[in-house]
Amino acid sequence: MTIRLFNTLTGRIEELSPADGKQFRMYACGPTVYDYGHIGNFRTFLQVDVLRRFLKLEGMTPLHVMNVTDVDDKIIRNAAAAGVPIGEYTPRFEKAFFEDLDVLAVETPEKVARATEHIPSMVALIEKLAAEDCAYRTEDGSWYFRIASFPEYGKLSKKDFSGITDGARVDVDEYDKDSARDFALWKAPKPGEYHWQTELGPGRPGWHIECSAMATEYLGDDFDLHAGGEDLMFPHHENEIAQSESASHKTFARHWFHVRFLLVEGRKMSKSEGNFYTLRDLLLKGYKASAIRMLLISVPYRQQLNFTFDGLAAETGAVERLRTFQQRVREAKTAATENATLAEETARSRKNFCEALANDLNTAEARAAIFDLVRAGNAAMDAGTMGAGNARGILEVLGDFDKIFAVLEDHDAEWTKFALQWAEREGRLSEASAEVVAQNSLTDEQIQALVDERTAAKKSRNFARADAIRNELAEKGIVLEDSKDGVRWKRK
Ligand code: AMP
Ligand code: ZN
Repeated sequence: MTIRLFNTLTGRIEELSPADGKQFRMYACGPTVYDYGHIGNFRTFLQVDVLRRFLKLEGMTPLHVMNVTDVDDKIIRNAAAAGVPIGEYTPRFEKAFFEDLDVLAVETPEKVARATEHIPSMVALIEKLAAEDCAYRTEDGSWYFRIASFPEYGKLSKKDFSGITDGARVDVDEYDKDSARDFALWKAPKPGEYHWQTELGPGRPGWHIECSAMATEYLGDDFDLHAGGEDLMFPHHENEIAQSESASHKTFARHWFHVRFLLVEGRKMSKSEGNFYTLRDLLLKGYKASAIRMLLISVPYRQQLNFTFDGLAAETGAVERLRTFQQRVREAKTAATENATLAEETARSRKNFCEALANDLNTAEARAAIFDLVRAGNAAMDAGTMGAGNARGILEVLGDFDKIFAVLEDHDAEWTKFALQWAEREGRLSEASAEVVAQNSLTDEQIQALVDERTAAKKSRNFARADAIRNELAEKGIVLEDSKDGVRWKRK
């Protein structure tokens, strides 16, 4: 199937395919590891995950590179405040970031590249730019990119910079959104600041050069797609293009994929507004990892997602419904004859699912196609008209759905427990909700022992004890399901 995706660079929806006919080479800007990741960050990483998963479902092989920014102004500032070198400050946040990706079932890119491990490639690129007369050194020993040397500057963000002042410079990473200025490629160290000794002189990289250097190192001068949140379009991606294309004289990335920022409860997410959430904040409040993933991916990447707690509760229900349906189909007593209408509905749902994703990654329509199947399948099971072939077909479609959405396998309780253990280690247990703490106050073994005791009590007709155990577990948010194969329990 032809995959079509909006390209920020051309402003059009275009077909995606690997230029070399083999691997789909893509680069996604990664995290700056100075703090825990927030839901806005993960919205972007999840949409990139949906893209790479869909490419795979359609038979492509991604070569996906992601950088980890482990040196920048904020990191230097925070590390200095904590009184440790940056190399001691960043690892815990990098580790936390990859743990969070696991929680959210985000696949690890084929290559993860740390900025601090690629200083020589950055230096080589800056030297090349200097040789091309696109970079210059200032008196303090810093190096800047001369944007007047790149007439196409602004082609990605569609900003008109025809009136720019040649030589006006900006050296901070926190930039002004509307002005174009020569930007720092290499920053001379301020007194006492962390730096590298290089052919360019002492210093550290500017913000943008790492992505140009690492993308080129692993993907070549030109590659298929570059991704990031919409905030990166200008100046970060614009500057990446200027640096890379000035050095290589080739088109850097053919396709640019930008994910729209989210709102939280209708407003911009910010610490001062009190509506800023890390992934761990949500887990400690008792929200399930699968529901968070489902919510963050279900609104297509170019639309503005309004993240609300009502929405999150609704997604918890949606995931539950899908899991229950899958379980029901697996266990269903099938009819002797196949149901032709249901087979048709199953095929249609699979087709609509793929077509929606192929149409600019429309995740909302893709999931709607699956819920159509849930309705049709449940109706057939209610009527006892689902054949064994029907069941197989439905489970296959659910399998494909889950190759993208990845919410059907239930690891939620594990991740909640993981967050609690982390909070305990960090002395942040007070941030967890009382319900979550209660739910996890018993180990799996303790719960199983109580469940066994209840079964024995029931057998010996001690119903008072059996009920007492059920109530005690219910108070801790542990629900029991009696079935013919015994008692199943789970944390709510
Ligand atoms: P950072 O760690 O700040 O470098 O950001 C990592 C990724 O998250 C980048 O692709 C950003 O564009 C993206 N990002 C940051 N804030 C948000 C937000 N509120 N909504 C969506 N994406 C975001
Ligand atoms: Zn980048």
